[in-house]
Order: sequence, then structure tokens, then C-alpha cells
Amino acid sequence: RIVYVNGEYLPEDQARVSIFDRGFLFADGVYEVTSVLDGKLIDFQGHAARLERSLGELDMAAPVTMDELLAIHRDLVKLNNVEEGMVYLQITRGAAADRDFVFPDPAATPSTLVMFTQSKGLIDSAAAKTGIKVISIDDIRWGRRDIKTVQLLYPSMGKMMAKKAGVDDAWMVEDGVVTEGTSNNAYIVKGGKIITRHLGTEILHGITRAAVLKMARESQMEVEERPFTIEEAKAADEAFVTSASTFVTPVVAIDGVALGDGTPGPVARRLREIYIDESRKAAL
Ligand code: PMP
Repeated sequence: RIVYVNGEYLPEDQARVSIFDRGFLFADGVYEVTSVLDGKLIDFQGHAARLERSLGELDMAAPVTMDELLAIHRDLVKLNNVEEGMVYLQITRGAAADRDFVFPDPAATPSTLVMFTQSKGLIDSAAAKTGIKVISIDDIRWGRRDIKTVQLLYPSMGKMMAKKAGVDDAWMVEDGVVTEGTSNNAYIVKGGKIITRHLGTEILHGITRAAVLKMARESQMEVEERPFTIEEAKAADEAFVTSASTFVTPVVAIDGVALGDGTPGPVARRLREIYIDESRKAAL
């Protein structure tokens, strides 16, 4: 596989990043994952816009323009013959001379840009067919979840708690309400209405979330953006999650309670179809 590191395309075993890189020492970095269908990028503009926002919130400079970033994405997809899968990108505050909590001067310490691809079947996934089961866990993450940082230890622990419990994922709960999944946005459906937590600093502003809600509204589906409790979720008709690499994926059980008849619901299935169709047409 060919990867990208700071201006160079290299075989993955020749790519190098300093041990003093702040991404490694402080999780001082941001990332994006853009999915690829038919060798084309899904919603690159959305991911680029969120990346610029994440960088801005952390006073970090982009090492390349967004046009250059698009070109690198396309180069990597081509070099690795990715038909279906994703492109991962990470920008960190770079490698300062020493380990220091204080941010280094950006003029002396350029940021690090790393990118790689992953080929993976996204459309024909087992999770989409059968739906996934989730457990609820406490949301103990920091308060700026709207910034897409590489600080993913708790979400990673959440996935392990789910695995231990014999299920697929975890929904995080704070002050009695569901924030989001470990790596996706969470939704419930009640009486035909789609309910998902409103945007704020408590959740990541999912690019798939924005697209799916827009498509749902355009298809005359009712959408309500507000907090919902885990009890309300367990009593819902159906539930689902969204993310760039899983699109719309039905949730069929929460904390061992089956939703509806325990199979993917009609709203989630329809939204998945619409999302894949529309995104494919608009892919770059
Ligand atoms: N919430 C969290 C915590 C995530 O990690 C992700 C995926 N990175 C999402 C939501 C979904 O965001 P997107 O649709 O942009 O992939």
C-alpha cells in the first residue's frame, strides 16, 4: 500500500513520523475519514469543511490547501486501486524539539500530515443486513467532542465493553440522555418521527448526519433534533446510527431490549438506500 506523509508518497513500511510528534505524545491532532464508492470520494467538501473547523478550534495550521488535500485523496485512491473503502487523514501539531505542554511556534514546527487508504466492502455489510446490538455506557469524554481529535481512547474502551458484553457497539449516556455512539451518531424512530440529539459541543457534528437529515427532510420524513433518554430509545419503534464508513446502520437491540420485532426497521432501511444512492451520484 502507498501512503502519504508530509508531501511524499511512499510504501507504508518506509513512511516515518518522529517519536516527538505531538500526535503521538499528546494526541494533539485531528483526523477525518472519507469513504470511497466506485473509486470516488463521498462528501469530500463536508469533511474538508469540518477539518478546517477542527484545526481552527485548536489553533492549528493546515499544511496544505483543501484543493491540494482533494488531489492527495484522489492520488491515493488511484495509487491503491480503491474501489470501495475509505481514506484516513490525520494532521498533528508536528514534532517539536522537546516534549513540552506549551504549543510550539508553528513557524519552527510544521504540522504533520499523514494519509492512507483502506479497501473494504461498505455497501454489502453484515451489520446493514442484520442490524447491530448496542449497550449503553457512561459518556466520560472531554467537553469538546465537536472537535474531531485523535484522542479516541474512551471510544476504543467503549467498543471493548461492547465486545465483552457480546454486542457490536455502545451508545454513550450523559445526564440521562444519549449523546452518540462510540464512532457514530445515534437516532431513534417513534411514530415515524426521526429523533437525534441536537448539535453542540457534546457530540461530533457528523458529516453523514447532516446529509442524512437533509435527505430525510427532502423525502418528507419528520425530523426532531433534541436529546432523548436511553429509556425512550428502548421503547422506540426502531433505531439506527450513521457514520462515513457505515452510512446508515440499523440498531436492533439496546441493553438486551429488542426494538420492534428485532430486525432492521423500515425507516433505517429506506434512509440507507437513499443515502447510498444520492451520495454515489454526488461523489467526486
Ligand atoms: N460521532 C463520533 C464520536 C464519531 O467518531 C463519528 C465518526 N468519526 C461520528 C459521530 C460520525 O461522523 P461522520 O458521519 O462524519 O463519519
